[in-house]
Amino acid sequence: MSQNPTPILLTPGPLTTSDRTRQAMLRDWGSWDTDFNQITARIRKNVLEIVHGTGTHECVPLQGSGTFSVEAAIGTIVARNGHVLVPNNGAYCQRLAKICKVIGRKVSTIDYTEDRRVSPADVDRALAADQSITHVAVVHCETGTGVLNPLHEIAVVVAKHGRGLIIDAMSSFGALEIDARQTPFDAVIAASGKCLEGVPGMGFVIVNRGVLEACEGNCHSLSMDLYDQWVYMEKTTQWRFTPPTHVVAALDSAITQYLEEGGLPARGGRYARNCKALIDGMAELGFRPFLDPAIQAPIIVTFHAPADPAYEFKAFYQEVKKRGYILYPGKLTQLETFRVGCIGHFGDAGIPGAVAAVADALESMGVRQVSVLEKA
Ligand SMILES: *Cc1c(COP(=O)(O)O)cnc(C)c1O
Repeated sequence: MSQNPTPILLTPGPLTTSDRTRQAMLRDWGSWDTDFNQITARIRKNVLEIVHGTGTHECVPLQGSGTFSVEAAIGTIVARNGHVLVPNNGAYCQRLAKICKVIGRKVSTIDYTEDRRVSPADVDRALAADQSITHVAVVHCETGTGVLNPLHEIAVVVAKHGRGLIIDAMSSFGALEIDARQTPFDAVIAASGKCLEGVPGMGFVIVNRGVLEACEGNCHSLSMDLYDQWVYMEKTTQWRFTPPTHVVAALDSAITQYLEEGGLPARGGRYARNCKALIDGMAELGFRPFLDPAIQAPIIVTFHAPADPAYEFKAFYQEVKKRGYILYPGKLTQLETFRVGCIGHFGDAGIPGAVAAVADALESMGVRQVSVLEKA
C-alpha cells in the first residue's frame, strides 16, 4: 500500500495540498477581524504581483468554485447588450459560451476539434468581420484535454481590434506565464485550488482597473457583481458577504510556500518535469497521449484508453486508487480516454509511483493490449 494515508490526487483541482496548507485551516477567523482582512489584502497583492499587474490591475476575490468567478467576470465586464466571441476547442470553452447564454449575453463561437489549438488568425478574421463583438473569452489551458492555447498571440489580435479580452486561466495561473505588462487583457480568472495549491472554495479575477471602474451596473446578479465586491472591499477591507475564512487562510499559506519555492518559474518547472516523467513513463507501458506534444500544456495529460476488452475505466480507477493514486476520467465524447494531472503538492516520486500503480493495476485486470493499433 501507499505510505500516504490519503491518496495522491492526480486531478486538476481539487489537488494534493501540503500539510502546512491544511494546517493553516486549523483556526477560526472573524470576518471583521483586522488580522483576517490583512490576509485578504496580502493575497490580493501577491496575486497581482504574479501577473505583474501591480498599479494597473485590481485583484477581486470571490467566494465559490472557479466557475463562479468566470460567471462573475463575464457578468460584470460585458455590458448587457455586449457580444462575446468564444474560440471553442474544449469543454471549458463550451462552459464560457453556456455562461453567456444563461446570463443573457450574446455569444458566437469559432469551433475546433478538441485536438487543435485556437488560431489567432481565425480570431482576427472573426473580429474584422463582425463589429458587434465587444469581447473575446478564451481558455488558456483547456483542462478538458490539456491543450495550451496561444494566449499572447490572441491577446495581441484582440487588442489590435480594440475589443476586450477575458481569460479563463484557471488551470494555468501561477504555473504558466501571463505578464500584464506584455499581454493586454481585461480580466484573468483563476482559483485557490489549482496551481497555487490551495484548497478549493474561492476564485479571483484580475481586472484592468480602468475597465473595472466602468463596470458599475453591468451585472445581472447581486452576489456575482465584481464591481460591488471591489468597491466594498476597497472601502471596508472586508468581503461583501461571508468570506470562506479557512480557504482564505489556506491560500495565504499556499502562496507563501509558492514564493518560497521560487514562484512561477519553479512551480511551472516542477509541473513540466512531472508532465515529462508521466508521458515518458506511460509510453513505456504503451500509452499514447491524445495530443500532439507541441500543443500539450504541462498541466494535465489525456491518454487513449487501452484497446483491450478487459479494460474498463471504473475498475481501472479503483485498482489505481487502491495503490494510492486518484486518476481523472476523460472528457471527450468520441474517444475513450482518461486524464492524469501533473499539478499538486507531491514530490518527484509521485509520478513514477503513479506509473508503477497503473502498470500494476493493468496486470491485475488482465489488460495486455495497451496501445491502440495503428491503422495500416
Ligand atoms: C477548474 C477549471 C474551471 C473551474 O471549474 P470549477 O469546477 O468551477 O472550479 C474553469 N476553467 C478551467 C479551464 C478549469 O480548469
